[in-house]
Amino acid sequence: MGDFQITFLGTGTSQGVPMIACDCPVCSSSDPRDRRTRSSLYIETPEAAFVVDTGPDFRAQCLRERVRRLDAVVYTHSHTDHIMGFDDLRRFCDLLAGRDLPVYASPDTMADLQRVFRFAFDGTARFPGYLRPEPRPVTETFRIGETSITPLPVPHGRINVNGYLFARGGRKLFAYLSDCKAVPELVRERIAGVEVLVLDALRHRPHPTHMSLDEALEVSAALRPRATYLTHLCHDLGHAETEKILPGNVRVAYDGLKVVL
Ligand SMILES: [Zn+2]
Ligand SMILES: [Zn+2]
Ligand SMILES: [Zn+2]
Repeated sequence: MGDFQITFLGTGTSQGVPMIACDCPVCSSSDPRDRRTRSSLYIETPEAAFVVDTGPDFRAQCLRERVRRLDAVVYTHSHTDHIMGFDDLRRFCDLLAGRDLPVYASPDTMADLQRVFRFAFDGTARFPGYLRPEPRPVTETFRIGETSITPLPVPHGRINVNGYLFARGGRKLFAYLSDCKAVPELVRERIAGVEVLVLDALRHRPHPTHMSLDEALEVSAALRPRATYLTHLCHDLGHAETEKILPGNVRVAYDGLKVVL
């Protein structure tokens, strides 16, 4: 126990909470758990530390959580709220002292990263202390240290994006589905028995590309993990109010929350 520590770097939807120019009760809340930066995770294991996604708040998240080490980056998809902190990976490349930083993503997401951040991949910016990403497109299970990571294709509007299942020593520890409209049967079978599940739960009302709270609760009830955490929330869902109406094994994630498995 304790070899897999997750820190929620961000738990907000693409615009973050509070939203710019909004005076609603959640955006005006004094509860620090109602301040949500863009969704991302930092995962530490004895052999390696890595992030899932680097959104526009990545630099501030690393400073807030005192992130000192990064051995790899994993991307769910290329929407701007998940990739726009890419340039701030340069500090971690610097700390790797000449080694390249492995970047894992689906082939589609990798192609987008290489287009948007071409300067980092094409070698034109290859001077000391700058980005040295090493693209590793993935469609099957891969490993970072002793953690095996399985891509979970899920529908997210008109595209499929990747959630991920993280396992160690044969234990299905953790599944992360931050952006999805549904969890297909094949993915449910792959993550059956997972200990901790993280699900997209944007708001109460249905949305074309994200699960609503009710849709997320249906998935959680069907899979019955020990704990489910909701993420990628918008300002419709206040932390304290939402927690009051959830089943006992479901919690609302918040920025800075740590889970150790
Ligand atoms: Zn998103
Ligand atoms: Zn608001
Ligand atoms: Zn998205």
